[in-house]
This record gives sequence, structure tokens and C-alpha cells, in this order.
Amino acid sequence: MKQMVCIGCPRGCHLEVDEATLEVKGNFCPTGATYGKNELTNPMRTVTGTVSIVGGVHNRLAVRTDKQVPKSKMFDVVNEMNKYVAHSPVKMGEVLIAGVAGTDANVVASRDM
Ligand code: SF4
Repeated sequence: MKQMVCIGCPRGCHLEVDEATLEVKGNFCPTGATYGKNELTNPMRTVTGTVSIVGGVHNRLAVRTDKQVPKSKMFDVVNEMNKYVAHSPVKMGEVLIAGVAGTDANVVASRDM
């Protein structure tokens, strides 16, 4: 049995996942069952961070991926964020890095600047 905490909502259910059958116990809702199975087979994460921005009211702009990426790609995504420089004006939701790190996710602005 693999034990983990569901990150689907603040309730933080403690899950037990059978590594052989992928049966999930301890989840209050179906999201936890999906999360538990995915954590053992193909863990995914939304990546948040900041990028440099020129001409804005701050030096850094909050960004995030617009969908989850494989957990194994998180550092590649962060590396691309670290190299990227945005130029103001930027609109919230604007795609800044398309297909980041070879995934089908984009890095988008989390706010206007
Ligand atoms: S199993 Fe459902 S209720 Fe429990 S933490 Fe996950 S999302 Fe929240």
C-alpha cells in the first residue's frame, strides 16, 4: 500500500493506494481516486512561478502552466521560465511560452502587467 495525501482540495484526505490493483481507499470524493491512481501511474502537476518582465511596474511577473504537466518535466518547465523575459504590456492569460518543455501546456501570465 502506498500512502499519500490528496491535493485536490483543502480537506487533504489521507489515501491508501494498492500498488497492484490501483484501488484507492480514504478518498472522500472521486477526485481523490483519480489523483491516487495517477500518482502511481503518471503524476501530473500545474507549475507556478515568475518570469522576468521589462517595462512593468514590478521586475517579476507571476505565471503558471495552463494545464498540468508530467511531474518529471517540472524542472524543465521551471528552467524555461527562468530563461524567459516578458515585455509589458502583458494581459492575464496571455500565452508567453507555448508548448513549454515539449509538453502540450503553455506558460501563461497570471495577471495583467
Ligand atoms: S479526495 Fe476529494 S475531498 Fe478528499 S482531498 Fe481529494 S478532492 Fe478533497
